[in-house]
Amino acid sequence: MKYPQTLENLISCYKKLPGVGEKTAERMAFSTLKMDEETVQLFSESLKDVKTKIKKCIICNNITEDEKCSICKDNTRVQTTICILEDAKKVQMIEKLKVYNGLYHIVEEPVTPFISSDAIDKNINPLIKRIIENKVEEIIFALKLTIEGETTAAYISKLLEKQEVKITKIAQGIPHGADIDYIDSLTLEKAIEDRKVI
Ligand SMILES: [Zn+2]
Repeated sequence: MKYPQTLENLISCYKKLPGVGEKTAERMAFSTLKMDEETVQLFSESLKDVKTKIKKCIICNNITEDEKCSICKDNTRVQTTICILEDAKKVQMIEKLKVYNGLYHIVEEPVTPFISSDAIDKNINPLIKRIIENKVEEIIFALKLTIEGETTAAYISKLLEKQEVKITKIAQGIPHGADIDYIDSLTLEKAIEDRKVI
């Protein structure tokens, strides 16, 4: 039996979420049906708002509702250390640990042999400029420990060869090829503290 079209549509929407299969999507759709009007309203508004109000910080690419993110706006943070990673979710993960008080920079597209010069211009060059102009003293790579992550780190390091920047990367306790998304917070905390000069 097929459900009414409206419900089928909602099920297909939920199925677009990562890790949600048919059964879970059905369960979510039925639980939505049981929600009161106000909650459903909140759901739909939040969904729309996330697309219209959330943008990228003009300095670090972190997510924000303003021009600059709360981290870039915070003058009490160490302005001469930048942690480089590939998505805003990881910024949040590191922030939760409360062991790091520097700034961040999100490199959205990893450097690969096929990367276009446009992507380098958009993605890497603003970071290099930021490091040089702000006299950054240390950069910490917290990129994925994959070939792409390593290549990106090597590429950035090369561009900074002539600068007086200490280059470190989080390392210890993180298995090769692991995504820090799946690492427990204690391991990640240790990895930041034990970062190595590369
Ligand atoms: Zn920012």
